[in-house]
Amino acid sequence: MSYVFDLHTHSTASDGILSPEMLVEKASTAGVNTLALTDHDTVAGLAAAQIAAKKYNITLINGIELSCLWNNKTIHIVGLNFDPENKTIINATINLNHLREERAIKIGEKLKKVGIENAYENAKRIAAGGTVTRQHFSTFLIENGNAKSQTDVFKRYLVNNKPGYVSVEWPSLEETIAKISGAGGISVIAHPLIYKLTATKLRNLINEFKVLGGKAIEVVTGHSQSAEIELATNYAKRFGMAASVGSDFHNENIAWSQLGKLAELPRGLTPVWELW
Ligand SMILES: [Zn+2]
Ligand SMILES: [Zn+2]
Repeated sequence: MSYVFDLHTHSTASDGILSPEMLVEKASTAGVNTLALTDHDTVAGLAAAQIAAKKYNITLINGIELSCLWNNKTIHIVGLNFDPENKTIINATINLNHLREERAIKIGEKLKKVGIENAYENAKRIAAGGTVTRQHFSTFLIENGNAKSQTDVFKRYLVNNKPGYVSVEWPSLEETIAKISGAGGISVIAHPLIYKLTATKLRNLINEFKVLGGKAIEVVTGHSQSAEIELATNYAKRFGMAASVGSDFHNENIAWSQLGKLAELPRGLTPVWELW
């Protein structure tokens, strides 16, 4: 029996479809032994997930996925194994939720200009009390018949230069790492290959991240092809980064990101869990 880690997942506390309890249950059924719940900019699901983890006898690592700005690009930093009651982290989530709320209102106003009514109210309804993300707008736009699929809806409405795009002044990479470190956690660059950075820029990002106290990069993600795992492995080795693994699970309909369905971490890397 192998030991299965999945250190990047979402629940209804942000844009996942399963409650924290159900997520833990499904992870346990899928054979995951150590799970991190890493909701976008919130720790609201962690307490319930910890209770469920005891029930299903798996280890739950406190996690979060923080949006930050680096060279005008939004980058996601996963924080792992921190104290969720730490004031710095709590204040960071309050601030980030304000930013998200402001963005959601602006997205609603912009979509109204192209004739789509009540997008904000509907995104809020779908978020059901969780952090409002573009995912919730996307669900509404599909429901409303404006687009057919997830990819379609982002391409047509929610990315740069499209009618529902609103840029956000997320906190800097430096601040973000400092907050995670301040709460005793480890910073990890989430899905490093999806930002469409040139090789030079990606090297600069990892280098700066390391200088600022970042410790790991995700080497194996739910959608990693073997060539991508090899590339990420080379970056981890070159910059002395530990390696993390995470499906980025949101719901069971996304075939490429299922709980615990991850490729093996290549040999010769330091797994991030050896750091805690
Ligand atoms: Zn992400
Ligand atoms: Zn994620």
